[in-house]
Amino acid sequence: MAALSAHTREKWLFGSKLPYAEAPWARGCPSPYYRDSHRQLRQAMRSWVDKHLIPHVEQWEEAASLPDDLYQQAADDGLLMPMAAGSSIPADWRGKFPVIGNVDPAEWDGFHDFIIHDEFGRIGGVGVENGLVGGVHWQTLAIPAIRRFGSEHLQTTIVPKILSGAGRIALAVTEPDAGSDVQGLQTEAVLSDDGSHFVVSGMKKWITSGMYCDYFLTLTKDAAGGFTLLVVPPSQGISKKHMTVSGSTAAGTAFIDYDDVHVSVNMVVGERGKGLKYIMSNFNHEVRAHNTLVSQNTLRPCPAIPGHACADEAMQRLFLGFQALRCARVCLEDSMDYAMSRQTFGKPLTEHAVIRFKFAHMSRETEALQAWIEALIYQLSQLSPAEAEFLLAGTTAQLKAHAGIVLEHVVREAIQIMGGIGLTRGGRGGRVERIWRDVKALTVPGGSEEILLDFASKRSLKVAAELMKEPKGRL
Ligand SMILES: Cc1cc2nc3c(=O)[nH]c(=O)nc-3n(C[C@H](O)[C@H](O)[C@H](O)COP(=O)(O)OP(=O)(O)OC[C@H]3O[C@@H](n4cnc5c(N)ncnc54)[C@H](O)[C@@H]3O)c2cc1C
Repeated sequence: MAALSAHTREKWLFGSKLPYAEAPWARGCPSPYYRDSHRQLRQAMRSWVDKHLIPHVEQWEEAASLPDDLYQQAADDGLLMPMAAGSSIPADWRGKFPVIGNVDPAEWDGFHDFIIHDEFGRIGGVGVENGLVGGVHWQTLAIPAIRRFGSEHLQTTIVPKILSGAGRIALAVTEPDAGSDVQGLQTEAVLSDDGSHFVVSGMKKWITSGMYCDYFLTLTKDAAGGFTLLVVPPSQGISKKHMTVSGSTAAGTAFIDYDDVHVSVNMVVGERGKGLKYIMSNFNHEVRAHNTLVSQNTLRPCPAIPGHACADEAMQRLFLGFQALRCARVCLEDSMDYAMSRQTFGKPLTEHAVIRFKFAHMSRETEALQAWIEALIYQLSQLSPAEAEFLLAGTTAQLKAHAGIVLEHVVREAIQIMGGIGLTRGGRGGRVERIWRDVKALTVPGGSEEILLDFASKRSLKVAAELMKEPKGRL
């Protein structure tokens, strides 16, 4: 009798047959999370990445630049709007922009979001994805922040421009003297005497995709108090310089200088002085209102942000976990492929117990990460935004940190298995070598490991304290 039925083969098998190269749901293991629309999206994304990205990645990374028309291609083929939307597509965006794989926008959920990033990850490394769509999804912020808090003017001018491919936007928060501690930022916005515009001065550092962007969602210190979030359009006084970071050369990482830049008041996102709160609360695009499993009577809503800058920020980190997970699979796939064919001491590397032991540990960590990510996507989809934020912001932060730690180990071992090939640019070891250069871009930006793990511990204590309270109305 065949080990796998025809039904299982037809329904579940997909992609590479090498051990661990694909997730369990592509290897014959049924899953409660995935439907036909997810399979449809996966196939469409795989074809898109294979056609438009994979053949060119090495050349783009060497040139430290992406072709101009690639962003428009991504818009036309339906990648941009769903990526900006995250785990659910807003009703007023449906039908206005294409969706890759012709997925019904009403059906779009966190697993579709996961699949898009997962398939991008097969490139090996994160530079191309972050350079191409960084302003749309990176920090999952720029567009969602405008959508949630922006005026009618911003909704009708900026959002369609970005999602249709006619303009590009990046998130500019970090500064030379303010990284983890966002509240230390110094870029100042001063309102003009006639109240018509702000004058913005300051510097922003490590702005992903900044070299390709014409708009910058910029967090400023308002001279009148608080932090004001501004969409800075192409203007006089903005200069940018490419920053060479370790790996991710195609990401277009930029240093931005604002020298008395005039920004009209109709570019303010939300209310003046509340920008920090918007930035932080907007990080949780994975959360959507849905069936509430925990009663609002037993848990208070998540408190407001000031003073707890990382709290909501931690929610959006999930996509960085998605990226790390697929990078780990790529390492498993390429090192396994090598180990199965490379002979040392008269037998393939896979016949050496020490090498098999490495694979056992690499796959143990990768499969556990997959299961945790899938569980978390599901949990986030089932809670109200306030409860998800309260119960799962810590978990999301912890998962992001964990994903980076897993990848650091997996890529290290992949290179050990591949020897010199794993350290050589291009060829069989090309993806693994690129991931090696990119791995720290998954453990520092987007909430560094130390900050996120500390936040996760603090949040677990806070949740426990809340759970130990007597519910209202009980004697
Ligand atoms: C490749 C790349 C892309 C980026 N993209 C963007 C972008 O698009 N937009 C943007 O605004 N920013 C971006 N950043 C900036 C990124 O968010 C910051 O690098 C990050 O927040 C950390 O800030 P920092 O580098 O200034 O480190 P610092 O804040 O100086 O911290 C240094 C180290 O100390 C640790 N640390 C700090 N405080 C504590 C503490 N209280 N307890 C324990 N440890 C602590 C941190 O974990 C870190 O490891 C990017 C950075 C990189 C490298």
